[in-house]
Amino acid sequence: MNKKKTKGLFFLCLFFCWVLTGLQPGSGPHRARAASSPEDRYESARRQYHKLLDDLREPGTESLFRSNIQIFQDILEADPKGSLTARCLFMIGQSHHHLFDALGRADDFNAALEAYKRLTDEHPKSPLADDAQFLRGILYEGRDPTQAYLEFVRVTVLYPQGDMAPRARERAQSLAAKLNPEAPMGEKKASGKAMEHPVAVTQAPPAEETTVRGGPSKGSPAYLEKVQYWSAAEYTRVVVYLSEPVRYVPNTLPPDPTGRLPARIYLDFENTELGPALKNKIDIRDGLLTDVRIGQYTPEKARVVLDLESMESHRIFSLADPFRVVIDVRGTRRLIPTDAAAAGKAAKLPSMAQQLGLTVRRIVIDPGHGGKDKGAIGPSGVYEKDVTLSVAKALKRLLEKEGGFEVVLTRSTDRFLSLEERTAIANTHKADLFISIHTNAHKDSSLGGVETYILNLSTDRESARVAALENAVSAKQISDLEAILQDLMQNTKISESTRLAQEVHRELVDRVRKYENVRDLGIKHAPFYVLLGAEMPAVLIETAFISNPREEKLLTDKEFQKTVAQGIAKGIRAYVEVMNQVATLEGGA
Ligand SMILES: [Zn+2]
Repeated sequence: MNKKKTKGLFFLCLFFCWVLTGLQPGSGPHRARAASSPEDRYESARRQYHKLLDDLREPGTESLFRSNIQIFQDILEADPKGSLTARCLFMIGQSHHHLFDALGRADDFNAALEAYKRLTDEHPKSPLADDAQFLRGILYEGRDPTQAYLEFVRVTVLYPQGDMAPRARERAQSLAAKLNPEAPMGEKKASGKAMEHPVAVTQAPPAEETTVRGGPSKGSPAYLEKVQYWSAAEYTRVVVYLSEPVRYVPNTLPPDPTGRLPARIYLDFENTELGPALKNKIDIRDGLLTDVRIGQYTPEKARVVLDLESMESHRIFSLADPFRVVIDVRGTRRLIPTDAAAAGKAAKLPSMAQQLGLTVRRIVIDPGHGGKDKGAIGPSGVYEKDVTLSVAKALKRLLEKEGGFEVVLTRSTDRFLSLEERTAIANTHKADLFISIHTNAHKDSSLGGVETYILNLSTDRESARVAALENAVSAKQISDLEAILQDLMQNTKISESTRLAQEVHRELVDRVRKYENVRDLGIKHAPFYVLLGAEMPAVLIETAFISNPREEKLLTDKEFQKTVAQGIAKGIRAYVEVMNQVATLEGGA
């Protein structure tokens, strides 16, 4: 963050507030007032504030400044519903904010935040409310960028017409660019834009196209066994399955100038032969892809070609055990023009909330494991796959009944689903949120507790262990994945996922606390396959340890399952609350 710019904006904001805090209704020159009226005391304290402001580090000034805060406090307490309340709160907030900037004391941080919060929560219609909301963002900026981002987004959402909205939007975008690890340098602008228009995926950097990836290709050949795809408007995922890790080279080709051949993505797999049951062409014709063609390009090289009708961007990555290569293609589906389109009727522009990705209608819930994949198994033989399905079903009922959401389960029966298919279901259903439900396991059966994960580099070794467990791969493969993770995380909604994790985790822990000894293990990061490529805020919840006999018993208890579902549902509703406020504002405008 540009320090100079930060300060500049901060003082510009202060100037507006100086004007606003100085406004006094009914305080014209002809109106006589008692010498010690609250208005007079407020005005003299405000002058004192401005006088002392620049010398906070000078000896003696701090105590004068603190006594001055007490004057605002006294006016406030004498008449909590008076006309000066909002302005006093604002002055108290700013005073502590300046003290925090000058001296760095945590109690000033908390006091500033509390005053701003009271102002925004209790006086939402005050002309100072949007300034206080903006300053909440400024306050958090150096300490907790994710929270700062959310505070700035709140300004744009709650006070879209306010004078702080453009500045807040700018800062939110700049923070989003910092929070989302961006691979290429000099593309910060693109990432800011991606935040504003979540569907605009940036083009993968050209350097990627010549990269050789995958494991060593020595010895006996690998077999290309299967190609699968999942398709929806604007998004198609193609997955190529191989018998073992091989080196592969992805490439793209523009359309043939004669118009006979479309644009293509192709991948060459080294030391690879086609499996016996493989079709050499799969028709797709979904508006993005015409088909996928598979062939033995040379005796040692298999080639997979995606013939494209339309593409804005794509992303290619591999997963281990079994080795498979995932190709995500995004674009605008070519449609036959309808009558309305032909008549030139413009589509309704997305609202600001939609542009910011803040509306939530459809939620995909993913019960972990299933079918041949039992997940972790408890000491008395309880399967993770059964627990996750029960919790997911309870959660679906709650969200539909109490939240009015549309809920899609990745599986509603005991059947096997690959991890890449689960994300594909969320993306093809254009889900607004993705919640994957699991139970934890550890060889130390005394361990227990609740933890919530978002996709990123591992927070610590324990997180890496859990990711290895859920991905069904080794810890070594996790570190290999982390090396390329930055590239794969473009368009991953890290800040939103973090906030979703915070809300869900807090409510979940709050609910399960009534069961003794269920520990809060916190919010963590790790590279989970099932979250890779999810294009919406996504979290993975480890509800409890199935390897712990006491928690295994709880996990099979219908009441406990319901409690877990209630906690998650409440967290989701808390996350969505901001968006409802937008809807109200937009409806009332
Ligand atoms: Zn699991």
